[in-house]
Amino acid sequence: MSRDNDIKETIEELKSYFKQQKELGIEYYYLNQLNEAMIEEKENLVKSVAEKEPRENTHQMNLLDSATKKMTLEEISDEIGDCTRCKLHEGRTNIVFGEGNANARLVFVGEGPGRDEDEQGKPFVGRAGKLLTKIIHAMGLQRTDVFICNVVKCRPPDNRNPEADEMTTCGQFLTKQLISIDPEVIVCLGSIASKYLLNSKASLGSLRGKFHPYLNSKLLVTYHPAALLRNPNFKKPLWEDMKLVLEELELPIPGD
Ligand code: URA
Repeated sequence: MSRDNDIKETIEELKSYFKQQKELGIEYYYLNQLNEAMIEEKENLVKSVAEKEPRENTHQMNLLDSATKKMTLEEISDEIGDCTRCKLHEGRTNIVFGEGNANARLVFVGEGPGRDEDEQGKPFVGRAGKLLTKIIHAMGLQRTDVFICNVVKCRPPDNRNPEADEMTTCGQFLTKQLISIDPEVIVCLGSIASKYLLNSKASLGSLRGKFHPYLNSKLLVTYHPAALLRNPNFKKPLWEDMKLVLEELELPIPGD
């Protein structure tokens, strides 16, 4: 085999390796730079808050400071307004604020709206959304029992991952929503939301399986429903995660 063929074959092998890793929720490789930028921006935010009001604090308390007081969801939506704070506004049809119970005990957080969500102004209403609805029903709950939202509220072009500056800009509103709802449990769907809220570079696989403290809530990381559509092998571990959530909320586990 020629050297050119060798190189081509190696590139194809690498492509399929990274594709498989991505399906497993491992996005560390290509998110490496993105996360560094995210962390730097957040650290700057934390520093600027700390300089104004010096005190010993955790990362999350600083986020809480920056989000100031507890607002109602309506007030947060009014503050977002007809937002042009980041470049995602250029391509959006509707802002997808999130929907559900303002006093929910359980909040699901995805990464950002897709085409259907952008058209309808509602979170998780496309194919992945329908699967999320089925998961919620399988838990013995309705969408109106929980709150469903995303890290970014405008659709990224061609469904690309939200960029660091977009997540930092829009993430302040997610923080305010989570402070307002003050749920017992937050479920992060997929690695983008998980790494963003936990300010972590760790793989989804290593963040799964245990509750992480987040503000007053317990945060659990699981697969994004879109990953389940691509790989049904994720169904079983996702259901295990949902059982942990039901146990934590002291709700009955259907079928057990
Ligand atoms: N994927 C997400 O992360 N969020 C949605 O609202 C829809 C699909």
